This record gives sequence, C-alpha cells and structure tokens, in this order.
Amino acid sequence: MNFNLTPKERQELWSQLLLQLENYYAHTSELPVSPQLDREKIIALVEKHSLSQGIAHQQAINHVVEGLAQYAVHTPHPMYFGLFNPRSTFPGILADAITATFNPQMAAWSHNPFANEVENFLVRELGEKFGFPKEKIDGVFAGGGAEANLTAVLCALNHQFPEYANTGLAGIGKKPVMYCSAESHHSVIRAGRICGLGLDAVRPIPVDDKQRMQPGRLAQQIDKDLSDGYFPFMAIATAGATGTGAIDPIPEIANLTERYGLWLHVDAAYGGAVILDEEKKHLLQGIDRAHSITFDAHKWLSAPMGAAMFLTREPEILSRSFRITADYMPKEAQSMPVTDPFTHSIQWSRRFTGLKLYLSVLFFGWEGYGQMINRQNQIGDFLKEELRKNGWKMYNDTELPIACFMDPRYQQTAGFARAVCDKVLQSGKAWISVYPVGGVETLRACITNYASGEEEILKLVTLLNACHREYQKSMS
Ligand SMILES: *Cc1c(COP(=O)(O)O)cnc(C)c1O
Repeated sequence: MNFNLTPKERQELWSQLLLQLENYYAHTSELPVSPQLDREKIIALVEKHSLSQGIAHQQAINHVVEGLAQYAVHTPHPMYFGLFNPRSTFPGILADAITATFNPQMAAWSHNPFANEVENFLVRELGEKFGFPKEKIDGVFAGGGAEANLTAVLCALNHQFPEYANTGLAGIGKKPVMYCSAESHHSVIRAGRICGLGLDAVRPIPVDDKQRMQPGRLAQQIDKDLSDGYFPFMAIATAGATGTGAIDPIPEIANLTERYGLWLHVDAAYGGAVILDEEKKHLLQGIDRAHSITFDAHKWLSAPMGAAMFLTREPEILSRSFRITADYMPKEAQSMPVTDPFTHSIQWSRRFTGLKLYLSVLFFGWEGYGQMINRQNQIGDFLKEELRKNGWKMYNDTELPIACFMDPRYQQTAGFARAVCDKVLQSGKAWISVYPVGGVETLRACITNYASGEEEILKLVTLLNACHREYQKSMS
C-alpha cells in the first residue's frame, strides 16, 4: 500500500476535489438549506462501503462530498439565519488545507516558530483592539469558546487561590462562587462543573427587559454570598448573548468586580467582532477592564470552525495555570524568551488554528473585516425593519443583527413559534430557530453570513408570512 500515492494520482485528486469544492462554494445557495433527518438512510450511506480494503480514491471522495452535500444543514447558505455558524472565508478554507498539509505541531515553539509567532501576533493585535495594555497582553488559541471559557474559570481560580494548582478545590478551605448572566452561554455553567466547583457554585444573575445582566442584582447576590460564608471569585459578562445578542453592562459590572476583588471575564465569543466596526465598537465599552476575554474567530469573523481565542492582561496567569514540565518535550528554544503553547493551554498537541484568521486578515485586512461586520449590522437593521413592517414584533433589544420576533396576537399561543419555524425548515428555503425571550417563545433569525443581503431578507420575510398564513389556515 503506497500511503504517499503517486504524483499523478495526487494531482488528479487535487484537481477533481477543487472542482467539487468550488462547485459547493459557488452554488451553496441552490441547495435546500436543511436535510431530511432519516437516520437509517444516513447510516446506510455511511456504511455503504466496507472499510476492510478501501475503495477507489475518487469514489471515496465523491462519497464523502455527496454525503455532506445531501445530509447537512448548509450553514454556508445565504438563507441560513441560525446560530453563529458562518460561511467560511475563502482564505480560511485555503488555510485549513495548508495547515493539514504542513501539519504544524503547536505544542512546542521550536517545532514551528513561524506558526507560533503568527498566533502570538494575532493575540497581540486583538488584545490591543480590545484595549488591553500592550506590554501585558497574553493569550492562546483554543478549539472553541467553550474551551476558552473553561480556561478563564481555571485562570480565575489560580489567580484567586494560589494553592488551587497543588491542592485542588478541596485544599483551599473556602467555598468559591462565580456569577454570570442568566442569558449566558451554557459552556460557562458547564465550566464551573468541569473544574470541580459544581453547578451550585455558578450563580445566574437575572436580566433586565433588554436581556442584560442587572448589576444591582449582581451586587445583592455578592453581598448575600459573602454574608453566607461563600467566597465570590469571578464574574462573567456576556458581550453578545447567544440567544438575543444582549451585551451586559460591562462598565457597571467592572465597577463591582473591582470593588469586590473578583476576576472579570467577558465572553465575547460572538459579539467581540463589533470591536472592528467603527460605528458599533462603543457597545463594548469597558471591555478593556476585563482580566480575560473569550473571542471566537469562527463566529462572526467567519473562520472555518475551531478558531477561538482566550485573551488576558494577566501575563503570568496562563503559565501558573497550565505549566507542567515534561522531559520528552523539545528543548531547543530553552534559552530564548519564548513560550511553548502546551504550557499555556488545556490542549497539548494542537492544530495551527491561527492560520485561518491570519490568512483571512492578510486577504481582507482588519478594515475589510470592519466593513463586513458593519454591513451585517445594516442587514440586521433591514431585517428588523422589514419584519416590523409586516406585523412582526421584536422581543429582544440589540444593535447586533439578531431578531427575536413574534406575531404579538399569538404571543400566548403555545406552539405557534415552533409550528411556523418547522414550516420554514420543511420548506428547505431557510433556517431559523425558536428562542424564549422573557417567557415568550419567539422566532429567532440572525445574520451570520457575509453573503446574505437585502434580497435574502426579503425572501425570508415573504417565507415567514406564507408559513404564518398556512398556520392560520390549518387552525381555522
Ligand atoms: C458560541 C458561544 C460559546 C461557545 O463557543 P464554541 O466555540 O461553540 O465552543 C460561548 N459563549 C458564547 C456567547 C457563544 O456565542
């Protein structure tokens, strides 16, 4: 078996695959947005070819490409108005192919100094954009926002309880508690669970009528916990809540974390990207006061998936949290002032995650990105306007391009939003979701795709109106 394949075989496979991928990229919009979920059929397709001997190469590739084309919610589709799953940037796609080919090992600096310095450069660039003091910026790429949020909780624990690294929670002799918005991403809550604090140590703080954490309620809860003998150590503000796009009042929360000596983490996995939009960056005011930030390049910046960052202005904390020495790790750069990423990360062997962002920024510049984010914000405004004109009411309140909306006449009708949403999905013409806001089941549409424009918005609103009429008909 020639694992290298021959040059001729490789050339043919590359050229064939390029045509297939380009065809998908260029014609995504012609596919139904979501698939039939017939699990038996899907398993039969996956298991169609015996794995014992393998099949012809081109046949194998066709099989995979067809399977993905047929059975997937096509998040790169311009009518996908769902969660923060973008259409990948083209340079991001190229970057993933380059990364897979060179396969840089990001555990040690000396194995891939270029790749490591690319990631360090991006960490400094974004840290500065968020307003961290230049000389203090540190950070690391992570698989996702969930990993970055877990990194944050671990850093906060190590910062507040120096003995935690050796004795674990059992040895610190205190009852640590942390705070987040009731609308925060569940990876925050799970982070509390994973690191041994337990779910009960995570205090969700109620939100106001704009779905933002209420600083007054946060202060009350901290006071109560202090008098009950708990040790408040961390608060997590969300900048761009996953459901509604709400941005917690970071300056007021920072006043409290500074007063009480808590670590402040801002989960800006999605919303952090508005820092690049000159018109909207003020929404993140105060983010420079955070000790750490989660930012996902695979959300609004449209890097292919798996490109998160953890940023901090406590330059020692990652080492204190994750450094461990290992005899088998390369030591060529021992005398140089460099950091081996495995000493800064939950991961050990790691993919060159930063390249997807680096190549994209090399193509478009931060300015190009700023324009893209700005345009998506405008398309979001257009969507909200069109929905209102058609009798839909907004239930969330955000300047980010997320609309949670309903026909107010059906606000109390259980199942209305779900029924309309299902009709939209079944049509294959668009993807939206259902999200409860202030006790009302609403329809949720979010612009996540740099290829969605006014035309797609008009199509979506027409489709929603039609599904609404169908629902009424089926009820009468
Ligand atoms: C998506 C998201 C996360 C989780 O990030 P992953 O990259 O999916 O792991 C965390 N917080 C917020 C606000 C998010 O939107």
